[in-house]
Amino acid sequence: MTVLFASPSADKTVLEDSGPFTPKFDGHGLITAVVTDADDGELLMVAHMNAQALSLTLETGIAHYFSRSRGKIWKKGETSGNLQTVTEIRTDCDQDALWLKVRVAGHDATCHTGRRSCFYRSVTMAGENPVLTITDDVRHFDPASVYHSVKDDSK
Ligand SMILES: [Zn+2]
Repeated sequence: MTVLFASPSADKTVLEDSGPFTPKFDGHGLITAVVTDADDGELLMVAHMNAQALSLTLETGIAHYFSRSRGKIWKKGETSGNLQTVTEIRTDCDQDALWLKVRVAGHDATCHTGRRSCFYRSVTMAGENPVLTITDDVRHFDPASVYHSVKDDSK
């Protein structure tokens, strides 16, 4: 089964109401998805989906994305075991972004660096220069041993 998505309505009030889900893919056929933990709301990652990835996600309940760097469907966690079970999908007012709430299996880590979230650094100014400071350095797994031969889950 493949989920078919109808074209977005030109009528804003239709887009903003309940009724058919008509995701607005960009010029590359992609839609941005933010991903949070279903239990505590932590922001885990941001990724992109094409229609096939979104269809697979809706059909299986497991998050699939489209890897822009590898140019193909990406079943998140296939290599690391950190699969994402989707508990809810939301879209925003104009249906051009998605919010996935997930439960992460395996190491409870989403980032290929082994950290729980991809957002493990904060940006601040040091004088005139923007610098990064690590806010979470807990590694839930060792990336070198998980991705030893295949770099498959690291976007
Ligand atoms: Zn990451």
